[in-house]
Amino acid sequence: MHYDVAVIGSGLAGLTAANYLAKLGYRIALFEQHYVLGGLAAYFPRKNHIFDVSLHGFPVGMIKSCRKYWSSEIADSIVQLKRIRFVNPQFDIETTFTREDFTKILVETFRIAPEMVENFFIKLRQMNFYDDDRQCTRDIFEEFFPGRADVHRLLMEPIAYANGSTLDDEAITYGIVFSNFMSKGVYTFEGGTDLLIKKMTEELMRNGVDIFKCSKIEKILLSNDQIIGVRANGIDVECRAVLSNAHILNTIKNLVGEEHFSPEFLAKVHKARINNSSCQVYMGIKSEEMIDDIGDLIFTSGNEHFDSKELKDFHTKSRTFSLYYPKTRPNEKPMCAIVASMNAHWDDWSNLDVANYQCEKNRIIEDSVRCLEQFIPHIREKIDHIEAATPRTFFRYTGHPCGTSFGTKFEGLEISMDLPGEIRGLYHAGSVGIIMSGWLGAMNYGVIAAHKLALNL
Ligand SMILES: Cc1cc2nc3c(=O)[nH]c(=O)nc-3n(C[C@H](O)[C@H](O)[C@H](O)COP(=O)(O)OP(=O)(O)OC[C@H]3O[C@@H](n4cnc5c(N)ncnc54)[C@H](O)[C@@H]3O)c2cc1C
Repeated sequence: MHYDVAVIGSGLAGLTAANYLAKLGYRIALFEQHYVLGGLAAYFPRKNHIFDVSLHGFPVGMIKSCRKYWSSEIADSIVQLKRIRFVNPQFDIETTFTREDFTKILVETFRIAPEMVENFFIKLRQMNFYDDDRQCTRDIFEEFFPGRADVHRLLMEPIAYANGSTLDDEAITYGIVFSNFMSKGVYTFEGGTDLLIKKMTEELMRNGVDIFKCSKIEKILLSNDQIIGVRANGIDVECRAVLSNAHILNTIKNLVGEEHFSPEFLAKVHKARINNSSCQVYMGIKSEEMIDDIGDLIFTSGNEHFDSKELKDFHTKSRTFSLYYPKTRPNEKPMCAIVASMNAHWDDWSNLDVANYQCEKNRIIEDSVRCLEQFIPHIREKIDHIEAATPRTFFRYTGHPCGTSFGTKFEGLEISMDLPGEIRGLYHAGSVGIIMSGWLGAMNYGVIAAHKLALNL
């Protein structure tokens, strides 16, 4: 077997990169260790439900990216989520999360001067990755909304769930993602993650990509620091270049091996921090029990104030609820599902023995149901399937260190971009540096890396 490019991993970055390169006419092999494609854009069936793992909301930019790098059919299935709610001890509001509506809320409900809101949006829009700006998000919030912990919460909470960033991370990691959402609101894929991945797979096959599922890449093979192939399930496959969608640190440390990198580069690698992971509780609603529309996405917390640390605490009182009404899958039998998502730390979960692990999973299930009861009384009686995922689940299905949901902190992006300078023909794309994460970030980074690869092949 000889390919131009081996793509390792079928997350949205890997899939999009493979499609982009195949359309340019290169022979592409796509290797995925799991038996389904999609990576964290995952879904799974239980009873008569299909649960979506990360289909909670993405920015409008997905429409353009899907049209450009996939198909009009995929782009045309992207629809807006109109009811985004925030419910916590400081405020209870509903918004479309568009710039217009958000401005109105900041001005009318939070009594912020309109020109201050406008200047804040302008500042975020002008942020550029190449500016050497050392401000953190907390600094920006204090600059525009000093002492307004309630406003800080409104601005930060959704982004902390969207990319794992905190008040102390580089302001650009906030600015880019917030600005992406703030143009036209929050969107979803009508038909569910399963339909999206099915359509992407069909497109890849039409474009001639060879797809190998259940194929774990054990090693990236080099000769004189030049890519010559990959080893999948013990079999060597020749290729001229590799685009790894495996975690950046896994790619460097395990798939290539640190001995192949310069000491300067490795010094940066050793400083790269892994981003946080997640817990989720998936609830399937009995088919005869439709639920009323209480909103599409609810950011809720029982914590008095916003606190980045509390958000990922083992006993956090903060979570989001994603509501999947029959409109999510309009061509299927009408069903409802609800997913509670929490940010989480690997260390809190990694060392629990079997009994304690089960006990803690039951605890987050119970906490989530109890919290949901404030929005849907008697929800308990309407649930016919419930289960939880933890950082260990995310580790198991993706192999990402510490089951991370969002790659690395900011410093990981430079390492990812510098990879081809260390090993000829080696590229990385996927959640990294907080900015290049989420469905849109991962997909666009896949294109950026694939484009660079093609220029040098
Ligand atoms: C709970 C949760 C909720 C989220 N919600 C949202 C949301 O609402 N909106 C949004 O935009 N984003 C969301 N995200 C983030 C988003 O899902 C991810 O940022 C994005 O899907 C990551 O894509 P990726 O290309 O980086 O790769 P990943 O999805 O991380 O996939 C990497 C793939 O590589 C494979 N792989 C790794 N190593 C190997 C190997 N050695 N050989 C073969 N295959 C390998 C893995 O199995 C995996 O399939 C969420 C994430 C989580 C965890």
